[in-house]
Amino acid sequence: MITLGCVADDYTGASDLANTLTKCGLRTVQTIGVPAKDLALPEVDAVVVALKSRSCAKDDAIAWSRAAHQWLRARGATHTLFKVCSTFDSTTEGNIGPVAEALQAETGDAIVLVTPAFPETGRTVYQGNLFVGAVPLNESPLKDHPLNPMHDANLVRVLAAQSRSKVGLVDLAAVAAGADAIRAKLSELSGAGVRMAIIDAVFDPDLETIGRVALDHHLSVGASGLGLGLARGLVTTGKVRAKPAGATLDHAVGGPAACLAGSCSQATLRQIAKAEKAMPVLRLDPEALITDKTAATRALDWAAERLGAGPVLIASSATAEAVAAVQARHGRDAAGHAIEQAMATIGAGLAARGVRRLVVAGGETSGAVVDHLQIPAFLIGPEIAAGVPVLRAAGWRGGEMVLALKSGNFGGEDFFADALRLMT
Ligand code: ADP
Repeated sequence: MITLGCVADDYTGASDLANTLTKCGLRTVQTIGVPAKDLALPEVDAVVVALKSRSCAKDDAIAWSRAAHQWLRARGATHTLFKVCSTFDSTTEGNIGPVAEALQAETGDAIVLVTPAFPETGRTVYQGNLFVGAVPLNESPLKDHPLNPMHDANLVRVLAAQSRSKVGLVDLAAVAAGADAIRAKLSELSGAGVRMAIIDAVFDPDLETIGRVALDHHLSVGASGLGLGLARGLVTTGKVRAKPAGATLDHAVGGPAACLAGSCSQATLRQIAKAEKAMPVLRLDPEALITDKTAATRALDWAAERLGAGPVLIASSATAEAVAAVQARHGRDAAGHAIEQAMATIGAGLAARGVRRLVVAGGETSGAVVDHLQIPAFLIGPEIAAGVPVLRAAGWRGGEMVLALKSGNFGGEDFFADALRLMT
């Protein structure tokens, strides 16, 4: 039985939340999409269902979120966090308001607490206004976001514009006065017909107080900051016994190890150069990856000869000039997609050749590899570098596998060695 359920409106946000919950002592699984009814999971405290519902059509967002919510409740979740972006990315159509209302209709909660505050990343809410660092949301780079530009920092107005419900505010004075003051304010608002309340939060302790109060209800809406508040609330009230993140990976998986790199970020290029001193590295020809179907097989043959002796690294990564040249010949999207697919084929081929410890560098590259392997869920382990935990496949037909999925600029120079050291 799980305790905390989370429905996240995008994949990277889901990973961030799952990692935050794990660091707070909750054994956490992240699923990719709405899980199958019979998904086999280890004993966990929290499940984060990762959706891609932030910028899709409203009706799809509602349908997927409800399916995720129902799955979580069927597995025992007594509280669900609808995880949104800490910059409240949405439009006047939604999808935050409509999804929150649909989930609220299922729980029957009279009022729902909403806050995207996440102080450690500079997101704070005061008098209902969201700040990104020192500036209000509408003066931050989010004002020019390509999908959902944010032109108003006042979240009471933003949420009201995309909801049918009346939206109110629980201000910092009530939060600072403590849990009972928040509860009193909520019943006052609820009495006035308010169904959703933006709640101010500036520091982590604010979120801990809010988390405790949110647990009186079945639903809350927020970013990883509220996840932290809920997790700490569950631990301090004894509903969950905190476990160290390492305890998640309670036994070694073993087996051959390999690294794949499709990220062309400066950090990844340095990490590959460093790895070259420690393991065999195959630098792929991107042109061949795009145009020659046998390129992946040749890379796998190269790996198969070496895997018995230790980890190997296969990289398509190249400098900005080389990338620009390939993109000029094939188009940016077509080149990126073809290389991602080739890397995914290589990833699946490595797994078929017995690799059970796999490090992937590159956000899109990781997505392609995981999709191709059809891994439905991950148990979150200890952090290798800030924001990059060790993952263990859960409910995967292929059996056991530990992974590290790193996007772009994450990790120090020794990232590949650091990852493999923790991936036993
Ligand atoms: P990051 O996390 O650094 O953004 P991604 O994997 O998300 O990494 O994106 C890197 C993109 O670059 C992918 O689409 C990948 O297929 C593409 N790519 C990788 N190697 C090359 C290359 N040599 N030339 C052109 N594109 C490349």
